Amino acid sequence: SAAPLGSSVIPIVNKLQDIFAQLGSQSTIELPQVAVVGSQSSGKSSVLESLVGRDFLPRGSDICTRRPLVLQLLQTKRKPDGSEEEYGEFLHLPGKRFYDFSEIRREIQAETNREAGGNKGASDKQIRLKIFSPNVLDITLVDLPGITKVPVGDQPSDIEARIRTMIMSYIKQPSCLILAVTPANSDLANSDALQIAGNADPDGYRTIGVITKLDIMDRGTDARNLLLGKVVPLRLGYVGVVNRSQEDILLNWSIKDALVAEEKFFRSRPVYTSLADRCGVPQLAKKLNQILVQHIKAILPGLKSRISSALVSVAKEHASYGEITESKAGQGALLLNILSKYCEAFSSMVEGKNEEMSTC
Ligand code: GDP
Ligand code: MG
Repeated sequence: SAAPLGSSVIPIVNKLQDIFAQLGSQSTIELPQVAVVGSQSSGKSSVLESLVGRDFLPRGSDICTRRPLVLQLLQTKRKPDGSEEEYGEFLHLPGKRFYDFSEIRREIQAETNREAGGNKGASDKQIRLKIFSPNVLDITLVDLPGITKVPVGDQPSDIEARIRTMIMSYIKQPSCLILAVTPANSDLANSDALQIAGNADPDGYRTIGVITKLDIMDRGTDARNLLLGKVVPLRLGYVGVVNRSQEDILLNWSIKDALVAEEKFFRSRPVYTSLADRCGVPQLAKKLNQILVQHIKAILPGLKSRISSALVSVAKEHASYGEITESKAGQGALLLNILSKYCEAFSSMVEGKNEEMSTC
């Protein structure tokens, strides 16, 4: 099954990459990184996992993410017989393929302990994990430790400042998309996530608000005003989600079960009916996909001119052989033509999406 993140972007990127491959050059469609920020136990790891569509991150009510996890998704080709193979590989264990995703989770925990100790300490040394799968987009996601206020266990007294500095080092990069995660049962106006995201991205061009735990709000309250941006406005808007509770995790609920339950949650609550485009992990994935598509659109002219100059040099090379052959230059012109048409179609498609986005 395709991961929610990338479902609409994967075909576009694949097509562009095919065009580059035929020209014999590597494409450099570099997509922005996506990082999650927020206070501890706000649901950051849960949100990332749902976007990837696989269970493999340590999650829990205690401090679980204690080192930055840089998760590189890498698209592989489906096998000739159509079957798919998904596996993970850690930088610190080169060559070892993890096919069992719960083993990936155990290794993240073990490696966290190796560096940060077994007693709640945190470290800014990255864990780097690659996930190879035919169902993913080539994109890098970063799971970050949450902001904590009171040192516990082996944490130094300046733990909060240290974690803030660590988070900033990722999200201050202009190419980083920020998922600012705040639980619905806490005060959005005092959100650590929005505060730190606001420091890194004051104009809000790359921050998406994510409101988690809509299922455990006080009885009689709902997240409408939060999602509408009436409490804290955010240029790219908010998406509300319901992830698995600790109990669901203990009951071994799969991501699929969780998505079904989330859908049912929103369907059964009339207050969210008119906000359907701001509710649920699939909508969050859609929003991210739209941003990625816009990013690709922005780099298309550059790609086009790279192809053109590649063609010119191919043609020159052929001319220097004393004969301009039909083959490569002709083939290149054909490809350029295809790409131009494709860009046009693509741009108009994106324009359609822009309208959608401006309503956020
Ligand atoms: P992180 O520390 O921000 O990475 O948060 P986690 O993803 O580890 O989640 C912290 C705890 O909150 C876990 O026990 C999750 O099961 C629980 N949790 C996360 N999202 C939700 C949600 O939407 N609803 C409920 N009820 N629990 C959630
Ligand atoms: Mg976490």
